Amino acid sequence: MTVHADLEKLICELVAIESVNPDLVASGSGESRIAAFVAGWLEAAGLSVSFVEPVAGRPSVVGVLRGSGGGSSLMLNAHMDTVGAGAMTAPFAPVVSDGRIYGRGAYDMKASLAACMITAREARRLGLRGDLIVNAVADEEVASIGTSAVVERFRADYAIVTEPTELRLCLAHKGFVWLEVETTGVAAHGSRSDLGVDAIAHMGSILTGVLELNRRLHESPRHALLGTGSIHASLIEGGQEMSTYPARCVAKLERRTVQGEDGASTLREIEELIGSAEATARVTLERAPSEVPADHGLSLAVAEAAQNPVIIGVAYWMDMALLNGARIPTVSYGPAGEGAHADVEWVDLASVEKCERSTYGRRSSCATEGFTSPLARADFTSPLAGALYLPAR
Ligand SMILES: [Zn+2]
Repeated sequence: MTVHADLEKLICELVAIESVNPDLVASGSGESRIAAFVAGWLEAAGLSVSFVEPVAGRPSVVGVLRGSGGGSSLMLNAHMDTVGAGAMTAPFAPVVSDGRIYGRGAYDMKASLAACMITAREARRLGLRGDLIVNAVADEEVASIGTSAVVERFRADYAIVTEPTELRLCLAHKGFVWLEVETTGVAAHGSRSDLGVDAIAHMGSILTGVLELNRRLHESPRHALLGTGSIHASLIEGGQEMSTYPARCVAKLERRTVQGEDGASTLREIEELIGSAEATARVTLERAPSEVPADHGLSLAVAEAAQNPVIIGVAYWMDMALLNGARIPTVSYGPAGEGAHADVEWVDLASVEKCERSTYGRRSSCATEGFTSPLARADFTSPLAGALYLPAR
């Protein structure tokens, strides 16, 4: 089978297995079925396969292609879950047309998963010294329980998150902090202005402060790839009925962060903004930003393997931060397409081939295409030394 047909077939098989995240859409199947498929496929390709299932029904699959020893290890990470089908007509019946594959998850990110799987199968013939580790993870679209659990059990020297980046090399992404602010008033009959204290109106001054803080953040020094942090209100709730002073109001805020900002620092900002008002603030969820320097060996190696792609940072959060947080230097590189989380989703097949061939590596296509795949270099000593030209550790 040609590279093209091989990849196309596997992407379609993965799209056809519904794996909607059940924490987004209650009727979603989760990852059990697709994990069984991926595990069986990787096993047949000669990898040693384990399931990591911190929550029943939400398995991740880890396939390890053991090296002969002494080389660096490389993790390729792709998530198996998707968002819901929205208004798509046939979300799980993939359509191939004009070099594109349409279907829910084709772009985000079953095409990347297919590229990682085929890379692992092809790499088996290369006699690598280091381990190549494929992570097919659960729950990236909600709480990332998959990658969180995998990094507790598996180590690697380097990792590539294969999220679709339009063939650009992503070195950094923002983090976020969710905060809750609660103002306290005094409930009273609406006519008793002598007794009532209006918790909702008091939230007003805090929200004005949030607008002002957002403006200041946009004027603060900019991170070269990420710009500045930001803050906005997402949800607000308060009061019980007309003609009653509201005793309580809660606003839920989202603070997007860059390097140097975290839960503690953003909570301090909100506390300063509250000042002496009758209000409390707390952090309800925190996800760190992520960055690998442009001159890090991994960044240089992927840039070279991918033939000098555009370097980017992205504003949204992804699993890169969890891997970097586990001290596995991680960048992101993946195919092109459109419609992640939208009603028409497609991936550009040629870009998936380029990922599979150049960064993740493939031997079979090189000779015919006059292209030296990194993994195909004769002198590789490990996935990275071979795939990404890094010296073995
Ligand atoms: Zn994704």
